[in-house]
Amino acid sequence: MNKDIATPVRTKEILKKYGFFFKKSLGQNFLIDTNILDRIVDHAEITDETGVIEIGPGIGALTEQLAKRAKKVTAFEIDQRLLPILNDTLSPYDNVTIIHQDVLKADVRKVIEENFADCKEVMVVANLPYYVTTPIIMKLLEENLPLKGIVVMLQKEVADRMAAVPSSKEYNSLSIAVQFYTETKTVMVVPKTVFVPQPNVDSAVIKLTVRETPAVSVENDAFFFQLIRASFGQRRKTLMNNLMNNLPDGKKHKSLIEEALETADIDGKRRGESLSIEEFARLSNVLQKSLHLV
Ligand code: SAM
Repeated sequence: MNKDIATPVRTKEILKKYGFFFKKSLGQNFLIDTNILDRIVDHAEITDETGVIEIGPGIGALTEQLAKRAKKVTAFEIDQRLLPILNDTLSPYDNVTIIHQDVLKADVRKVIEENFADCKEVMVVANLPYYVTTPIIMKLLEENLPLKGIVVMLQKEVADRMAAVPSSKEYNSLSIAVQFYTETKTVMVVPKTVFVPQPNVDSAVIKLTVRETPAVSVENDAFFFQLIRASFGQRRKTLMNNLMNNLPDGKKHKSLIEEALETADIDGKRRGESLSIEEFARLSNVLQKSLHLV
């Protein structure tokens, strides 16, 4: 019986057999520690009724551990060179489907409908390619897919931003975007030594549990996110300054913005980074009305 794919010896054998070389541009850092993989799968709380979407299976290190516990695994892999390797390494598992596609271009909703109709729940589990971590997570969340949650390895710095609280150094528009859709928690910090090749940055595993309804009630999602981006425009400036400089026609609407801040009971001299998600929602709902966006 073969050793697990993620053991250093087996990984080395597979890479050698296929003459595989890593492409840095595709964020290829493979996991070579079965212990870490077990813990990732534990955090995802996968059962034999779970359908799992994986992004970037590589040579199948995580895919194998998912296949052992889940009902089904469907994995998106962009690198064609990995397809024959996965076909070989994952041949003992009949519940795995590999889709050769850039996940950012994929119709994930359709894949869920076609593959997981007989599953009780769907989880995304992945060791993400670090060059596209944020676009991938935002795509999955903004499309409002029927997901129970997302458990992924990513740069520790990005995990810290996603889980950050108001007024901390890491808190920014990404924190709010992720926390709007999910309960967000960093569950593991991971050393560089568990990857080949070793990445330049520290890594962490984050668990995003998708909320049934967003964290706050917002009348116009697009304006809410525009307001947040505007508020964080220049971190040293006051909220009022940022809104005037960064909202479309902000300067022209100075008095409307001042009134809206007052109605929402938020001091315009504060920094954007001190506002909670509830305060941003309140301000967004008032301001969009006065700017006649509804
Ligand atoms: N899951 C494997 C592991 O843990 O050892 C490999 C993880 S590696 C960090 C990221 C993987 O994502 C690579 O296999 C890479 O080819 C793939 N990848 C990169 N960009 C992608 C994209 N846009 N869509 C799908 N897969 C992608």
